[in-house]
Amino acid sequence: MNILVVNCGSSTVKYELLSMNDNTDNQVIAKGLVERIGIPGSRLEYKTNHQVSYSKEREVPNHRIALEWIIEVMTDPEIGVIKDPSEIDAVGHRVVHGGEKFTASILIDDEVLKTIRACSELAPLHNPPNISGIEACQALMPKAPQIAVFDTAFHGTIPEYAYIYAIPYEYYEKFGIRRYGFHGTSHRYVAGRAAKMMDKDPSKLRLITCHMGSGVSFTAIKNGKSIDTSMGFTPLEGLVMGTRSGDLDPYILLYLMEKENLSTKEMDQILNKKSGVVGISGISSDTRDIEAAAPTNHRAQLTLDIIAYRAKKYIGAYYAILGDLDGIVFTAGIGENSSYIRKTICEGLEPLGISIDKDKNTVRRREAFINSEQSKVKLMVIPTNEEFMIALDTYQLVHDLER
Ligand code: AMP
Repeated sequence: MNILVVNCGSSTVKYELLSMNDNTDNQVIAKGLVERIGIPGSRLEYKTNHQVSYSKEREVPNHRIALEWIIEVMTDPEIGVIKDPSEIDAVGHRVVHGGEKFTASILIDDEVLKTIRACSELAPLHNPPNISGIEACQALMPKAPQIAVFDTAFHGTIPEYAYIYAIPYEYYEKFGIRRYGFHGTSHRYVAGRAAKMMDKDPSKLRLITCHMGSGVSFTAIKNGKSIDTSMGFTPLEGLVMGTRSGDLDPYILLYLMEKENLSTKEMDQILNKKSGVVGISGISSDTRDIEAAAPTNHRAQLTLDIIAYRAKKYIGAYYAILGDLDGIVFTAGIGENSSYIRKTICEGLEPLGISIDKDKNTVRRREAFINSEQSKVKLMVIPTNEEFMIALDTYQLVHDLER
């Protein structure tokens, strides 16, 4: 079954065409992205499993035109991988916010689309482009079932006492203000891989999954279910991120807004775009730049110290709520690559049975154990693969429909 995975951002469409079957030899046939949609200089990148690599500029005013272009190259007689769009059997869409309604992936119909639209209030930057992508694919591939896979869905098992904030309860009832959590598809994927690596039943494992990329979130997973996660009502809460603050005393907002006479929009920019790694260091949002600068720059070193310190606090907290711990997984850009950050997070946690192996920890971008022999807790590097997870959900749901 050929499955197209579509991930629409405000000015991008990332895509992957996968051939899925009941065995384990699923393959990526083609992938790439269209960027700068609606901005001068739009371009498409395209790669196939037959070594074709193609990149071109063209005006792309909206997501519909972007998807038309993607289908055009995939069906091109010379560089294409399929002959006709009808060879795409189903489409899996990444949808950021599923609210409280969607706790699993679902076949999109009019009612589902209406509910996704209603969730846009909770994710005004993310859900509208996701909806544009769904509508474009419905128009371009009317026969292919469209499946929505939600970033929030995996966290649908978080108990009420972990998702309710200690503000007047009426705001939960009135506006749905609660912890939702994000990166769910990534946490679910790496937790599944961790169970495979450990050769254990996922329903018997206690894990902390650390998704550390430009966005950062940790999840406590007990018996295969998310029981708490660091991102909250929005992806701003939790750990230190590239440009986002993570946790802070909420009064700081009020204080700063008054002192600097800031509008909500300006405060939003500060918290989402000017804080975190770039805010503390004043250098860059990219931890590679910070690691390079740290030996001679106090604020760069301070940034790395804060990242590790805050990560330790979350690991300690999640260890406590899990009651015990079998494994910690590091994933995404930083988690998969930075030996230094992984090491500094784990250092000092030996009394908790967490002990990293210096040599094994040099690994990058591949699945590996990085714990020492005596470590009670397994430490793993697992490259995330949200596209594969979306394709797998799509495959399974379409299979169920056909039965
Ligand atoms: P992602 O959002 O998962 O694509 O991760 C992107 C981030 O990963 C970048 O902003 C970098 O901060 C970080 N990153 C990627 N490679 C490395 C590396 N080799 N060392 C440290 N950080 C890295």
